[in-house]
Amino acid sequence: MSRYSPVNFPDVRLEGQFWHERLETVLTRTIPSQHAKLAENTILASLKLPQPPPPLRFPRHANGFTVQVFWDSDVGKWIEAASYALAHRRDKDIEDKIEAIVDDFEKAQAPDGYLNCWYLGHEPDKRWTNLRDNHEMYNAGHLLEGAIAYFRVTGRRRWLDIMERYLEHIYSVFGTGPGQKRGYDGHEEIELALMKLYYLTSDRKHLDFATYLINERGRQPPHYFDVEREARGEAEKLQRYTQGNYEYSQSHKPVREQDKVVGHAVRAMYLYTAMADLAAEIGDAALKHACEVLWDDVMETKMYVTAGLGPSAQNEGFTHDFDLPNQTAYAETCASVALIFWAQRMLHLDLDGKYADILELAMFNGALSGLSRDGEQYFYANPLESDGTPTRWAWHTCPCCTMNVSRLVASVGGYFLSTAADGVAFHLYGGIDTELEIAGTTVALREISTYPWSGAITIEVDPAVPTIFDLKLRIPGWCTGAGVSVNGTPVDVSGAVNGYLTINRDWFKGDVVKLDLPMPPVRLYAHPGVIMDAGRIALKRGPLVYCLEEIDNPGGRVQRLKLPRSAELRTETRADLFDGVVTLKADALAIREGDWQTLYRSTPPQDETATLTALPYYLWANRGQGSMVVWVPEVQ
Ligand SMILES: [Zn+2]
Repeated sequence: MSRYSPVNFPDVRLEGQFWHERLETVLTRTIPSQHAKLAENTILASLKLPQPPPPLRFPRHANGFTVQVFWDSDVGKWIEAASYALAHRRDKDIEDKIEAIVDDFEKAQAPDGYLNCWYLGHEPDKRWTNLRDNHEMYNAGHLLEGAIAYFRVTGRRRWLDIMERYLEHIYSVFGTGPGQKRGYDGHEEIELALMKLYYLTSDRKHLDFATYLINERGRQPPHYFDVEREARGEAEKLQRYTQGNYEYSQSHKPVREQDKVVGHAVRAMYLYTAMADLAAEIGDAALKHACEVLWDDVMETKMYVTAGLGPSAQNEGFTHDFDLPNQTAYAETCASVALIFWAQRMLHLDLDGKYADILELAMFNGALSGLSRDGEQYFYANPLESDGTPTRWAWHTCPCCTMNVSRLVASVGGYFLSTAADGVAFHLYGGIDTELEIAGTTVALREISTYPWSGAITIEVDPAVPTIFDLKLRIPGWCTGAGVSVNGTPVDVSGAVNGYLTINRDWFKGDVVKLDLPMPPVRLYAHPGVIMDAGRIALKRGPLVYCLEEIDNPGGRVQRLKLPRSAELRTETRADLFDGVVTLKADALAIREGDWQTLYRSTPPQDETATLTALPYYLWANRGQGSMVVWVPEVQ
């Protein structure tokens, strides 16, 4: 089968209501407000390197660590998100802001190319002494992604040139050559950024260094983090910061031998993203196999129904199989965003709908929940149950998630489609318009739908000249009874392979494909190993996971509601809510709370009838504080 590649996101115009609204909010509110927050929190000032350095805004922990070591990465991610915004429409104000940041980095860059504002400003004699904890390459990776995005959109090379000088320095310090350090970063990121730079430049040295980093990770003895620790003169083998193990940074063994997803969730996802990129690029079967084994491990035992990842705040990551607590779920926004990156890479290793299903699930649920409706509030952790205490944050001590969600939404068009020499594949639906080169012809494609609210999808195909090519339609794994027709003639959907129905024909201008994806509300049950969800159901419709919020279910906390197994789930289109959503309704029971006088009693509680209303999970916590639950008790 032909190899499919991602499309350039600016080539995909979002016309459907769902993504058009999210994109406009991010462009007009999120990205400008994030710049203001970067300034307000002195992150932009930290690039100016005054001597002596100002007092720390976030004092060091007892182990010497301060979150300020990764401020450069926040700036890099903002530049990336802002550059994606510029691809939709140029904006002199945003460009001036980026140029001002580039000025600061240009001035800060050391004569040998080194560029990390924390170390240059605070500990210039300690560079490259603690890769395990201090994110130097991680910062470089995010700055590089920002530079690539800015160059791609504006054609301006200055920022990219600065970063390439920095990379030359890194390549001189690290490697397997004589006198070089055999290091790699405790927080993976630069690996996937280097793959992007390789795709941009075709310069083999970037691919080679990404390969070096992937190959070196977890190699021992000696373990590189021990080597540098001994060089620092520290006796304690592993500090608390690293959770006392190398699993935290996926450096416990070489990556091709890893078969269990462990440690910090975002680090893991960034690593697997780069592994999948590299496996595809160099045709490394062992690396591909490792990606597949790790994918299965996440899917079978470690992912929330919302595509949230990493239940524990303690390590911001994974614990044991089936450990998916709801109220204390960490499920960092960044982890779901990074899962989207990984899923997209897996999809381009093998065009298999199981990857697109997860890409979509994370997109509409675990990632999107991180951004408020107004575009200026965030969730870092994304619990699946709330007593009403958590609220969205205007900013965060570690603002990684804020720019992760904005860079995702600003480039979301790139996830809708892929192309090969002889075909095009639709992964997502939601109303897009694009022109792509397929089989040597420019083909205009217009997908018209109100997805995810409806599964009625029309695709208009307009090749410049009649052309034979594959048009592949993803039939989501959650969908049964899909219908497809071309110019009114039904197509047998049972011919779909790995979640994609291939229509190969001579396409003519004016051809129309209709796709009908029935999306009745369904109940999902968790594996019995997930003890937190025993006896409970989650509600889902199409790609959207639903939740109950107190504001829609007045009378007390939503934890008192129970859903009879026989209760019909009804849909209700609410034009008045969030510019139009589909809610779910059902006749339910609620524990009567008013007659309780004691903490415990032997008399069973009384139930009363109630109407249950469920809202898409990604929209929760946008209408004040209140209780919320995804997993609802089911009763006979
Ligand atoms: Zn984050």
